[in-house]
Amino acid sequence: MSDALPPLQAGTLYLVATPIGNLEDITLRALRVLRECDLVAAEDTRRTGQLLRHFDIRKPMLSYFKFNEARRSEELIQRLGGGAKVALVTDAGTPGISDPGQRVVQAAIAAGLRVEPVPGPCALVAALTASGLPTEEFHFIGFLPQKSGRRRQRLAMLADLPGAIVLYESPYRIEKLLGELVEWLPDRLVVVARELTKRFEEFLRGRPAEILGTARQRKLQGESVVMIGPADPPPMTAK
Ligand code: SAM
Repeated sequence: MSDALPPLQAGTLYLVATPIGNLEDITLRALRVLRECDLVAAEDTRRTGQLLRHFDIRKPMLSYFKFNEARRSEELIQRLGGGAKVALVTDAGTPGISDPGQRVVQAAIAAGLRVEPVPGPCALVAALTASGLPTEEFHFIGFLPQKSGRRRQRLAMLADLPGAIVLYESPYRIEKLLGELVEWLPDRLVVVARELTKRFEEFLRGRPAEILGTARQRKLQGESVVMIGPADPPPMTAK
């Protein structure tokens, strides 16, 4: 293990993971990159501004979110091409994982620029590793589509995936999703990881109908990762 701290490199895009709840989860390296970069590209500059202020960091910021990704990517590539060190952050967790990032990463690679990950919090990893579900093979789906036709198609496909399945869901649709799992995968073990790294973090484990019952009773608030255990025994595959 090396404890040398090389200076940030000119013309590099740093993908900086930020806390998903608990501010203590920010890494020392993330703080150094945020302190030493020239510019922070943030999904929400107000929210990232709060994070930076908490750590006493002052930096120029530029917004980079879903609806200005294309335009901002070009701008960022120009800045990087001119030698800027740019840190990309999202509201929480790892950029590019169900969050903006991919477009500027691809553009930077295409332009021959350096892209460096600064790993840290990611809801999918935190949830899955503490879920108790097998981790040797898993499928990360992220958010299911909202449109009902495409959503049903995706739900139908889940049954055939080997290993654990990991979904992201917003607090507004968690009951709907659990209802869909009652319909599509009623016998699977489901684990819902709520409010990870926060004060009221909890893991709910059971069949979809059991967890749906709890969700209806308690009106689950906050953010959740929904995980589905593999079919047991594994489904027969055609030779
Ligand atoms: N890029 C982020 C990451 O690395 O995990 C994910 C961003 S995505 C827009 C937000 C979703 O991640 C939420 O709807 C929820 O499914 C999950 N999530 C984020 N923070 C969470 C937390 N503290 N507890 C549970 N789930 C969380």
